[in-house]
Amino acid sequence: MNVMVDQNTCIGCGLCCGMCEEVFEMNAEGKAEACRSADDGNRDQVQGAIDACPVSAIHWEE
Ligand code: SF4
Repeated sequence: MNVMVDQNTCIGCGLCCGMCEEVFEMNAEGKAEACRSADDGNRDQVQGAIDACPVSAIHWEE
């Protein structure tokens, strides 16, 4: 399942990268982005990052 980080909303706190480094990484602009899709092995971690993001910038993408 694909994950999307809204670049206009992300404040670059790095929380999601710490929670699931398989999927999230910081880009050159200091914002998080999803470098790959989530799979069964990290789906719960990604959902945790979605729930924990202080500005609700992370979303599942259909
Ligand atoms: S947790 Fe949210 S605000 Fe923080 S880096 Fe990730 S997407 Fe950006």
